Amino acid sequence: MSKVIITAALPYAYSIPHLGNFVGSILPADVYYKYLRMDEQDVIFISGSDQHGTPIELRAIHENIEPSVLADRMHEEIKSLFEKLECTFTKYGKTHCDANREIVYEIFNALNKNNYIKEVKSIQAFCNVDKRFITDRFIEGKCPYCGGHARGDQCNDCGRLLTPEQLIDPICKICGKSDITFKEEKNLALDLPKLELDTRAFIVKNSSNNWTKNSINKSLSFIDEGLHAREITRPMKWGFPVPVKGYEDYVFYVWFDALIGYIGITKDWNPSKWRDYWLDKSSMLVQFMGKDNIEFHALMWPATLIGSRLGFVLPRTLRASEYLLSKELKFSKSEGIGLNIKTALEIADADYWRFCLMYIYPETSDSEFSLEVFEEVVNKIMNDKIGNLINRVFIIYKKNFDLIDESIEPDQELIDKVEKLEADYVLRFESIELREALHAVIELAEYGNMLMSKYQPWTLVKNNNKEKSIELSKIMNLEKVIIYKLGILLWPFAPKASRNILSYFGIDKDPLLEMLDVEYDKIRIVDKEIKPIFSKLTEEQKKKFEVFK
Ligand SMILES: [Zn+2]
Ligand SMILES: [Zn+2]
Repeated sequence: MSKVIITAALPYAYSIPHLGNFVGSILPADVYYKYLRMDEQDVIFISGSDQHGTPIELRAIHENIEPSVLADRMHEEIKSLFEKLECTFTKYGKTHCDANREIVYEIFNALNKNNYIKEVKSIQAFCNVDKRFITDRFIEGKCPYCGGHARGDQCNDCGRLLTPEQLIDPICKICGKSDITFKEEKNLALDLPKLELDTRAFIVKNSSNNWTKNSINKSLSFIDEGLHAREITRPMKWGFPVPVKGYEDYVFYVWFDALIGYIGITKDWNPSKWRDYWLDKSSMLVQFMGKDNIEFHALMWPATLIGSRLGFVLPRTLRASEYLLSKELKFSKSEGIGLNIKTALEIADADYWRFCLMYIYPETSDSEFSLEVFEEVVNKIMNDKIGNLINRVFIIYKKNFDLIDESIEPDQELIDKVEKLEADYVLRFESIELREALHAVIELAEYGNMLMSKYQPWTLVKNNNKEKSIELSKIMNLEKVIIYKLGILLWPFAPKASRNILSYFGIDKDPLLEMLDVEYDKIRIVDKEIKPIFSKLTEEQKKKFEVFK
């Protein structure tokens, strides 16, 4: 069986990720990872903090601390929040670590030796007060197109990409002054035009492996437009120094060492085993990201790996999500307020967020989050369809244990539907349609509810005769099978509920798919204490959304 490497785009270690960031890459990657673990595949799940770049250096200057201190502080906080959300990474590392530095140098030196690195010149802003170049976010001004508030690389209002000399009334973000001169600045760049043919071949060859439509379309259109050399260095202080004469005052551009961070973080996890995954040609690299990250993962990243000729495995599958939006609630990331993964956990536990966000996962088109949507999913699906079914079934068992014979097998024709939904779940996961896999779980619960209404087992318990008792046992044992399977299938989406359900059956380890193939008359209820699986949103919880409106 091939090894699998799952990655989630590295969150920038500057502010707490909001719900849109979480559902865009980390959550679906974690759900898929948990599924492959259930399938007992040889899989690792790698993500971590993207720690370099101008926003962190700038804030560190203003807070008068080392950028690494700031970046590590944010890293620890974000990591612990993902853990509270029950994300189980093989390694949630950080780009500013020795292992990553080594891989960055190894790849850069190889690219340089293979003549894929060239010097480029561009006009950049130089602050005469701070005596340094002020690139990207170090310089701000008015947008020449819309008059809005713009940074050195992009307008915040209209989103257009900009160069610093286009800004009107530019000011330096370090000293706040406008004593700025524009002068020619050199940088090292990855010579993408030289790698265009190989990169195109890579996209054509791999994009049939369950790539999302947006990643196929976007990467092909980028390549049709023609590739340009991309700068991989920056004249700033925070980052990995560039090991080239004449570039002593430069570091690698943040995108370059963030992408390589997938390998670096794996090496940081295990200094020898990382090779087994990244240097084995049969390894399958499956990468999750938001759609704004497609260009990096479909072009610059494979081009970097191809050009290095070091034999690193190329992405097999790119899963780019669309956006999760909210008209009603503020997600706002830059100010560190709004509905983010920290404030969300103050309202409800991990299971509720994981389940609801995967239910509306923007897998094929943008989707909308609101309190109404959250309430609908929590109350009507999690509580009413799943939680209530489980409670009703176990209450009937608890009250009538003497009447129900657990060794009587349910009718096969009713079981067939259960097995069909289970097979559907597996198929959906195999084609990485995660939202559809969750829908198969919900359908299974709906089936259980339908059977309860149809056979009304609570009426059967009143008649104390043998025939009725067999009928009662058959239907209740079928419901028991459904709940047992719900306990297994829910695991990637709602791990706590899964654990609670499986504990009724005396199972206290992570579930495996092979547990679905048990002999049905062998499933026994061990723990008879009723425990709530999901509950409805309270008024108090709903009130907590007010501050985000
Ligand atoms: Zn603008
Ligand atoms: Zn300045």
